[in-house]
Amino acid sequence: MKKPLSLLVLALGLGNVAWASDYPIKDRPITLIVPFTAGGPTDRVARDLAEALRKPLGASSVVVENVGGAGGTIGAAKAAKANPDGHTLLLHHIGMATSPALYRKMPYDTMGDFEYLGMINDVPMTLVGRPTLPANNYKELLGWIDANKGKINLGNAGLGAASHLCGLMFQRDLKVDMTTVPYKGTAPAMNDLMGGQIDLMCDQTTNTTAQIEGKTIKAYAVTTGKRLTTPALKDLPTLQEVGMKGFEVTIWHGLYAPKGTPADVVKKVNTALRAALKDPEFITKQQGLGAVVVSDKRIEPAEHRKFVQAEINKWGPVIQAAGQYAD
Ligand code: ASP
Repeated sequence: MKKPLSLLVLALGLGNVAWASDYPIKDRPITLIVPFTAGGPTDRVARDLAEALRKPLGASSVVVENVGGAGGTIGAAKAAKANPDGHTLLLHHIGMATSPALYRKMPYDTMGDFEYLGMINDVPMTLVGRPTLPANNYKELLGWIDANKGKINLGNAGLGAASHLCGLMFQRDLKVDMTTVPYKGTAPAMNDLMGGQIDLMCDQTTNTTAQIEGKTIKAYAVTTGKRLTTPALKDLPTLQEVGMKGFEVTIWHGLYAPKGTPADVVKKVNTALRAALKDPEFITKQQGLGAVVVSDKRIEPAEHRKFVQAEINKWGPVIQAAGQYAD
């Protein structure tokens, strides 16, 4: 009797291997690891992408798994160690490139432990405050910071998070030390900001736009070189405009698979990613949150890899100069 191929694969101990022809395996979900909490900015990008990826990938479902903590390194480590069969993917942001400079002991090798599948989008950040802050614009915020030195709390999603990097640069440029309050993602930090338990936060527009619009938090500036066009954000000055020379932080997201994922599976996911990034519904949702979906070259795995290496080289010295690290 002829053995079915899957049995043969198991018998040969090749259970890890997947071929594009049978990928994704019928009725088996694809797990998309997000290394931050549910309901936050990275999670929002991931849930929209999961929906847009499902059809072109031919998957029964793409399920988001939130593995927050330690600035994204716990979730990324879990993805790095997963079975390299294309059924576990990772969506991560700029933290992929900032963590190596921040952690003395990294639980994975950023350039060596992943297959790079392509980039997704660029997301600006906003400097926001609790609704009860007396400052109503950036100038007034500076006055309030001056008057409250030593008493200010700044929320973030842990060392290596985008909010950490942005807050670090903000404190460095102002020459003010704030007490940082780390969370497993900026979704819970946003709750505390709205409730007045923390004073300030730097966070992606994918998490702040609706709150700014609803006036449940105060907004002071954007971190991009140019002002934004999203209606709720267009009146906010850039930090450069208000005197922070060279301040520019844009958060990018990319898609990864564990090292060893077969090349034809990588190709299949990349092809599906290209289709997802052209999906008008995905593009519209992202635009509404201030995000810009990438196109062309930046979706190529080789370009993605090159870009992450360039970002490691760019941010490493900035972080080291700020003397930040964790064991
Ligand atoms: N906004 C977080 C960060 O600062 C990530 C998240 O919570 O999704 O990196």
